[in-house]
Order: sequence, then C-alpha cells, then structure tokens
Amino acid sequence: MRRIYLQKAKSQVARADTIRNINRQIVLNYVRDREPISRAEIARETDLQRSTVSSIVNALVEDGFVEEIGAGESSGGRKPTMLKLRTDEVVAIGVDITPTVINIATANLAGEIIHLETFPTSPDRAQNFQKIVKKISAIKTELKTEDVKIGLSVPGLVDEVSVVVTYVPYFHWENWKIKDEIKDATGLSVVIDNDANAIALADLWFGMPEVDNIKNFASLLVAEGIGTGIIFDGQIYRGNKGAAGEFGHMLIGDADKENNNAVCSCGNTHCWESFASNRATIRRFNNLTGSADGASDISRILTLARQNDAAALQAINETARYLGLGIVNLLVGLSPEAVIVSGEITLVWSLIEKTLLKTIEENIKQKLPTTLITASTLGASPTLKGAICLSIINKFASRN
Ligand SMILES: [Zn+2]
Repeated sequence: MRRIYLQKAKSQVARADTIRNINRQIVLNYVRDREPISRAEIARETDLQRSTVSSIVNALVEDGFVEEIGAGESSGGRKPTMLKLRTDEVVAIGVDITPTVINIATANLAGEIIHLETFPTSPDRAQNFQKIVKKISAIKTELKTEDVKIGLSVPGLVDEVSVVVTYVPYFHWENWKIKDEIKDATGLSVVIDNDANAIALADLWFGMPEVDNIKNFASLLVAEGIGTGIIFDGQIYRGNKGAAGEFGHMLIGDADKENNNAVCSCGNTHCWESFASNRATIRRFNNLTGSADGASDISRILTLARQNDAAALQAINETARYLGLGIVNLLVGLSPEAVIVSGEITLVWSLIEKTLLKTIEENIKQKLPTTLITASTLGASPTLKGAICLSIINKFASRN
C-alpha cells in the first residue's frame, strides 16, 4: 500500500479529466497488447460502458493513435470493427548516446524504427550536440504531428531533480544540461534517462513475452562498463536523486593477481565492471594471447569465440563467471523475478550460459525463489530501443 505524501497530493488528486485520462490509457494499452481487438471486447475486459469505450476509441482514432482495420469474426449479430495501433507515422525520436556512436532514429507507435542514422561519438560534447540538433531539426520538418517527444539515453548519471547529466565516466563530461539545451534548440520536449534505466524500460514495455507479467526485475547492460536498471513494481527504482542502479561499481572483492591492472572507470580497483565488462574481456584476451597493444575489440573476440578459438572462449567464460558472481549479489539483495542481460556478450549467450548459471547456482546458499536469468530480446542496439521507449511510453502511461 503506497503512502500518500501531502506535498505531492496536489498533483495526485483525481480531477474529472484524470479519470478520463486513466481510462484512455487503459483502452490504448488494450489495443497495444491485444490487437486486433474490438470495442466490445475492450468493454467486456474492462467493465467500462460500451459508450465510454466508443467515445475514447473515437478520440484515439482522431488523434492518430488507433486505426480501424475492417470487420472481425462475429460471435452472433453484426461483425465488430477491429482496432489496431496506427504504425504508419513517425511519433517518436530516439537519441542514443553511447561511448562509441550516437544513434538517432525515428520510430512508430509500436517502437519500430523507421529511419536510423549513426555517427561516431566525439570526445568534444559540443560537437555531438551540434550534430544531434542538426539531425533533429531535419526530422522535425517532416513530422506530421507536433506531439513528438525526444527520448534521450546517456551513458552516465542523470539527476532526476535538476535533469542534468551529472557525470559521463567514459568522457569525464560533467554537469551537462543537455535536456534543456536540446529542447531550446529544437523546440521539442525531451525525456532523458541513464542508458541502463532506458533499457530496463524497453525490456518492460517492448521485451520478451516472459517479462509481460513481471513487475520486479533487473536489466543488466554489459558494455564498456556495466549498467543496471531496476524495475520495482512496474516502474524504475531511482533512489536518491536518480542515482540508484550503479551496481557496476559494487565491490566484489580484492583485485587478484590477474586483475592488478583492472582499474575501474571510477578509479576503484574492485568494482564488478572492472571484472565483467567488455573492457575486462578484452584485457583478459590480450593477456592470454600476449598481444600487448590492446588492439582487440569485443566483436573480434566474440567472432573468434564462435570459431572455437581457445583464448577467446576462455576470456568470455571468465567474464561470464564474474558476471555470475555479481548477479548472485543482485539476487541475494533484491530477489528479482528476472535478470535480463543486454550488450554484445549476449551474441554468444549459448557459449557462456552454462558458466554463468553454474556460478550463480554454486554461490547462492540461501533458499531463494527461482529467478529467470536470460538474454534480452532488444537486439543489437538495446540503448537505442531504450531511447525510443523513453520517447513513446508517456503516450501509454503517466510518467512516474
Ligand atoms: Zn567503479
């Protein structure tokens, strides 16, 4: 039962339009999840009056969210008109800033990408900003609706209160007011979040069927570092000033001999991500093969692993073992219903799954409920899916 906090009550009291908005979102979610569906079915499922459902659906059709797709099967009497989400228009812009590339995509109401442009991330953030604004301005001229928000995923800490990117470790960018800067430059409002939170939301809204009825899970992004997004009771758990979920920097023990050089991006030597991120895999592979220049990249190691290369297989499985140890800590502390892993390493999931699950099994001593440990279905650019999700979900749910 959620306590009512009085300083927030002003925005929570139920005005007449609040109820209508909630019902509108429920009807829209029925179309999204159960399409094709008829007005009568929605009325039956929700216990809303037929006339209420009809008037909401008519408004959704008029606003371009829903379309009629002809008659469905009749259960006696007149054939019902079936409804589906309208997906022929751009209603979302996702801007996905990663340490290596920036993806800018337009998408439809189902989160499907319509157009994608990718360019390398510059260490000079002003240069990135100019390119992003130029691209969005071009997209804006072709939009058919004004009701488009920009979803922005960043690889760093986002302060929920002041909405400033407080820190991007990879480039040491600090106090970047990128949300307001993009809004001022493009005239479109911006929904910003940390990359791991954005992925967690995408897993929640656009993820696999197994996650559909799960309200508590952790999404894990294994990339240059390790990011975690925690979904608690169907929404992001943010913590004080939005800084929660930095499990990548939880300490998982003293650096061992092999890991003497495993300094984390935060300066610590015992962080989970210094043992289990892509950087850790690359370092291990280079140690094993004696390539001192550190020129290997993760995709090359994964390709070699698929070709049965012994050093590559050893490197990814050692990483999987450390991933497993960190996941044990998540399970013991949070007891989530699922842990969903994203990032390049999931491309070789079948080669690491055994090591990962065995490590978890061997190191959990308590009797905990079973947790689903699985690779995300968000595809090759999970953070881009996250950015698109940030842009879209306010149409389906009030932002928490
Ligand atoms: Zn760290």
